[in-house]
Amino acid sequence: MGWFDVHAHLTSPHLVDREAELLANAKAAGVTTILSNGLNPRDNQAVWDLSKRSELVRPCFGLYPVDAVMPGMIRLGIDYPRDEEPADPQEAVQWVADHVEHCVAVGEIGLDHYWVPEDLWEEQEGVFRQLVQIAIDADKPIIIHTRKAERRTFEILAEMGAKRVDWHCFGGKVKLARRIADELEGHYFSIPSNVRRSQSFTRMVQTLPRERILLETDCPYLAPEPGGQSEPAHVAGSAAFMAEEWGVSLDEVREQLESNFERLMGFRP
Ligand SMILES: [Zn+2]
Repeated sequence: MGWFDVHAHLTSPHLVDREAELLANAKAAGVTTILSNGLNPRDNQAVWDLSKRSELVRPCFGLYPVDAVMPGMIRLGIDYPRDEEPADPQEAVQWVADHVEHCVAVGEIGLDHYWVPEDLWEEQEGVFRQLVQIAIDADKPIIIHTRKAERRTFEILAEMGAKRVDWHCFGGKVKLARRIADELEGHYFSIPSNVRRSQSFTRMVQTLPRERILLETDCPYLAPEPGGQSEPAHVAGSAAFMAEEWGVSLDEVREQLESNFERLMGFRP
């Protein structure tokens, strides 16, 4: 039992060289479980390999919502930073379907209307629905990335009856987050380690039901200090912030978060 990070990217090119150091730091900070999220078939495989090397790491297999429509993005000539040849989206969906029993959650998946133009929204939604269905059929929780498409994501998950969901780094209105928590049982929000300097995440910690909150880092992004690199060890700092905001002890925060994690994931962190 201990702290956990439900949304890390330890296989990110920015972090791979620091693998041993990051895992040692996490352990020293009391982190017992890191869900490393895959973005495409190559990354999913890397996450899976890493989980075999470290007992802290549990694999999540996904398809990043922008990767889900990458051929269309290229066809339309949209400028998007890519460092590798994109995978074919249907092959990527099939990869998740073929390996789903080996992951602890399907993620990250979702809808991104920030990078993806409206012409491709329907196509993106089609891929998203396939991945949600794979998770539901395999009885796996889902880790959601959504940007500028929170309401549509909410509608689809409600319609499809997704019952175990973590909304990672929720960027929509706090009011919508509260509505999701009210209307959809089994939906959680993971708060990144920049929480102290983010008005919106601070509001979420203050106003969402405590039994719907989880910890994440999205490392290497969203560090506690602007411009820094985040890492799983930083979740301990977010937990300390929650103890201050909730006016409870760190042990009470740990108990609450552990039980939230267990309800979503089906195992103790
Ligand atoms: Zn992510």
